[in-house]
Order: sequence, then C-alpha cells, then structure tokens
Amino acid sequence: MSPHADPPAPSAAAAEKRDFIRQIVRDDLASGKHAAIRTRFPPEPNGYLHIGHAKAICLDFGIAAEFGGRCNLRFDDTNPAKEDPEFVRAIQDDVRWLGFDWASLRHASDYFGVYYLAAQKLIRDGKAFVCDLSAEEVRQYRGSLTEPGRESPYRGRGVEENLDLFARMRAGEFADGARTLRAKIDMASGNINLRDPALYRIKHVEHQNTGAEWPIYPMYDFAHALGDAIEGITHSLCTLEFEDHRPLYDWCVDHVDLAGHPELLEPLRAHGLPEEAAKPRQIEFSRLNINYTVMSKRKLTQLVAEHLVDGWDDPRMYTLQGLRRRGYTPAALRLLVDRVGISKQNSVIDFSVLEGCLREDLDASAPRRMAVVDPLRLVLANLPEGHEESLAFPNHPKDEAQGERQVPFSRELWIEREDFAEVPPKGWKRLVPGGEARLRGAGIVRIDEVVKDATGRVMELRGWLDPESRPGMEGANRKVKGTLHWVSARHAVAAEIRLYDRLFSVEKPDDESDGKTYRDHLNPDSKKTVHGWIEPAAALAAPEQSFQFERSGYFVADRYDHTPGKPVFNRSVTLRDTWAAG
Ligand code: ATP
Ligand code: MG
Repeated sequence: MSPHADPPAPSAAAAEKRDFIRQIVRDDLASGKHAAIRTRFPPEPNGYLHIGHAKAICLDFGIAAEFGGRCNLRFDDTNPAKEDPEFVRAIQDDVRWLGFDWASLRHASDYFGVYYLAAQKLIRDGKAFVCDLSAEEVRQYRGSLTEPGRESPYRGRGVEENLDLFARMRAGEFADGARTLRAKIDMASGNINLRDPALYRIKHVEHQNTGAEWPIYPMYDFAHALGDAIEGITHSLCTLEFEDHRPLYDWCVDHVDLAGHPELLEPLRAHGLPEEAAKPRQIEFSRLNINYTVMSKRKLTQLVAEHLVDGWDDPRMYTLQGLRRRGYTPAALRLLVDRVGISKQNSVIDFSVLEGCLREDLDASAPRRMAVVDPLRLVLANLPEGHEESLAFPNHPKDEAQGERQVPFSRELWIEREDFAEVPPKGWKRLVPGGEARLRGAGIVRIDEVVKDATGRVMELRGWLDPESRPGMEGANRKVKGTLHWVSARHAVAAEIRLYDRLFSVEKPDDESDGKTYRDHLNPDSKKTVHGWIEPAAALAAPEQSFQFERSGYFVADRYDHTPGKPVFNRSVTLRDTWAAG
C-alpha cells in the first residue's frame, strides 16, 4: 500500500454489526487514535478449543477482517507443565477451519527474553522485588476481600540485592517455589490482584519451545499484558472474568512502557520478529454459555481422561474438533456467534439456538439424499423380477444450481420400519395394510400383504405400484396422504449410522449444588449405532460431506471412518427439535 492510500473501507458485514466493541473500534479509527487496528486470539495450549472459543475467535479475527486490521494467533504458553504441542496443532487447525487466518503466529515463549528485561527494568525502577515467602505465607499475607493484606518483609530489599537475586533465580540457583519476583503495588488495595502480585516464579520444567533454557517463568497477567504490548495490539478482547485483572494489566503495560523503551525489545531480533510495541486497551465481553453443555477445558479434559466419551473429537463433545466431526459447519458456528451477539451481559444460550443455526445452514446448503435407518423390505409385486430404472432427483429443493442425481429404483426396496403400522394410531398418514402412500419420486404403492416371522414380527411388505402414478403419467399427482423415502435394495449401500444426541440430559450439568457432578448427568442415549441402507450417491460422499437424509435429519460422512466402500455417517442434528417442551 502506498503511504497515501486510503485506509481500507469497513466491509458490509462490519456496517451491520453494532455491538459495543465494534463501536469502540469504529470511534478509535474515526478519531485517529489508531490508524489501523490489531487484535489477537491468545489461547493457552493446554487443551482443545471449545465452542466458547469460537465466540472469541470470531470476534478477534472478525473485527480485524471487518476493519482492515490484523489479528495474530498467540499461544500463551507460559505454563509448560500443562502444555502440549498436540494442542498447538489442533488449535491452528480449528482457527483455519472456522475460516480465519492469522497475520502472524506467535508464542508468549518468543518473548521470554523481553519479559526478563522488562522485569529487570521494574526492579531498577523500584517497582518489583524478590520475595522469599513460601506460597503458604504469601497466602497468609494477602488478606481477604474484607481485610487488607500485609507487606512482605522482603519488600524493602534494595535494587542491587533484587537484581542479584533475580539473576540467580534465572541462573537456576534456587528450588521451585523458594522465591518469587513480585510487583510492588499496594497490599491494601481493594482489588486483590493488585496486592503485590507475583510476576515470576521458579519452575524447573522443560518448555516445549525453549527446552531447559528457563528455570523461571512469567505469570499469566504479566506475560499476557506485555505480549499484547509487544505485538502492538490496539484492542485486547477477553472475557469478563478478566475485568478485575485489568488494573494489573494496565499497571504492567504502563510501568514497563515498552513503547517508550525500545531497548527492552532487543531480544525480539534474535527471533527475527518486528518491533511494533504500543499501548493496548483491554475490553471485556461476556462468555458464551450454552445449556446442556460443559464448556471448560478442565471438564472436557476429564471427560476424555475418564473415558466418558471416545476422545477429544467424539462427536458429542463441545470441542470444535468434536462439533466438526459431528457435522457442525463453520458457517453454523459463525451464525451462532452473530446471533448471540457481543455484550457485557452474562447469559445462557438455549441449546436449541445452537442446533437451529446448524439446521439453518444445512437446510440451505446440504444436498438431499435418501437413506433408511431402520430397514423394512417392500416388494413391488407387480413389477417384473429384475426390473431396474434410474430416476432423476434434484439435489436440493430450493437450489437448482445443485443440479440432479440419478437414483436407482427396482422391484425391491428398503423403507423405514416406522413408516408402516398394522394398527395405526389416530392421524396416521403412512402405510397400513391395504393403504396407500407415495414413494417419493417413484409412484404410489398399495400394501397388499404383510409377511411375518414365527414371532409375529413384520419381515416384509408386498405391494402394488400404481402404474398410472409413475413419474410423467396422468395420475402422477394423484393425492395421497403420506410420502415416504426409500432406497432400492439391490443398489443401496450398507452404512453404519451413528445416531448422536445431547451428551447431557439436564440443562445445567455443572451445577453441583445437589452434590452431583456433570458425570451424573450424562445422557445414556447420546450414542446409538445402527446399520442402515443409503442410496449410492450418498455412499460416494467425501469425508465431512453433509447431507439431509430426507425425513430423518442432517448427517455427515465421518471425518475419519467413512469410505465410499464402507460408509459411516454421523447424525449432526434431527430435522426438528425433539427436546422442545410439550
Ligand atoms: P476455559 O476456562 O473454558 O477452560 P480458557 O479461558 O482457559 O478456557 P484460554 O485458552 O485461556 O481458555 O482462552 C483463550 C481466549 O478464549 C481467551 O481470550 C478467553 O477469554 C476466550 N474464551 C474462553 N472461553 C470462552 C467462552 N466460553 N466464551 C467466549 N470466549 C471464551
Ligand atoms: Mg484461561
């Protein structure tokens, strides 16, 4: 871009979204406070991302895209014991899958050198000291919500002694927990986060990126605030639980003042990283909460560790990997985030809103196919043995651009067992002995004979296909009550069909007030595997292709297990909300 080019115009999407954060961004661009905006998404790589993170991702990356800014992906990897490169890979995969890409991929560990210089600067400025209190003593000195804390006896240490001790912490001379570096702020502050919080702790643990180089690690608040400042983040967006941390965030940014002290950024050069420090502003928004789910890495980790689900990407999991395998689409999740909106108001979204977003996206986009989940044989006795034809079906009723497919039709079909009743309930519109129904796109059948086994179970139906009702014939539009889906028995492909439902059967699985835990609320019917028959065009699907199986629901070809020779489909969502009250 030439220096005189106009800044990129906000996109149409930005013009529509009017939440308070976008309004701040708009105002900051209009007033010239920022020439361009920078955001970041800062996950801790200690687990897989969940649906709540989708909200943060859509906001951080979405705002940058809408306002012509840049968004970094930064791994806040300051807690090496819990972090794993497997999560780092999966998180990148998830962000891309949601449709976003980062301007720059960073790790907080890229900045360990800067953090160290920044800590030394605070010591020299008399703003930090090395404290010898144990973790237990620090707790005792901290005070409570109603009582002020007490100052550490080490608070008055001189600068030289502090610098020396900090250097020796860094050199690995002291045991884990023996000392900390603490900010010198205010032990009487009403905000406990400001009562001389730790900035560095001793931890002799190897780090995934820096190996054994550092026996000390920066604390989250210090590292996070400076990480934002280092990257020149203009709007640092996070969830409401960080509101009480904002004064500490600002304290770190202001007292280190990276923008005014470029010498502290020197270690970035060793990493080949640009120096772009600026003062960031933290803005909090409410978390996404959805009933019938648990949404914390800790609980999701436990579900996996305790084998209550089949792994992180179990299609019942509320991880992005799980939702993806279930058949959730990026468009559906983006729609959810838009629909929920951005505010400071905490709320719990009804699960039906999530499912509704998926239905809305798939109704518009997913091709239709026929599949029989619980098969019952139907013989059209008036067709000759070996009769075979191919019928053209539109792939989508409302989207002609999706074209047509050929569906084989023959004398013997599979229909859904539940579409036949010997003794129909009131209002029944499907097949009964002697009754008629339409075989979708093929004609009208009348049931003449019901074949049962010795136990009385219906094994086969024999019927008559009205030749006048066939496609193109005079009687093709003759009125009958029910229309059924079917597949040709000879042509259909056997498929494993996994019928998933909500993982929890209560609205608040993490409510432990009655002594129960979310483990006690697992829905025993959340997974049922059946063997059905699908039309050939469905079997040919690539993994992750979604379909509407007519009259049955939205299904996706399993990302890992599906092959055209051995199809495996997961039910993503039923056609209608079966959990709705009443
Ligand atoms: P959890 O507490 O659910 O295990 P986390 O907050 O520890 O997740 P991080 O990796 O620290 O996970 O989060 C990265 C970003 O995602 C943070 O900015 C955080 O505010 C945001 N985030 C996490 N959970 C949600 C949620 N439910 N809704 C919206 N944003 C979220
Ligand atoms: Mg966190």
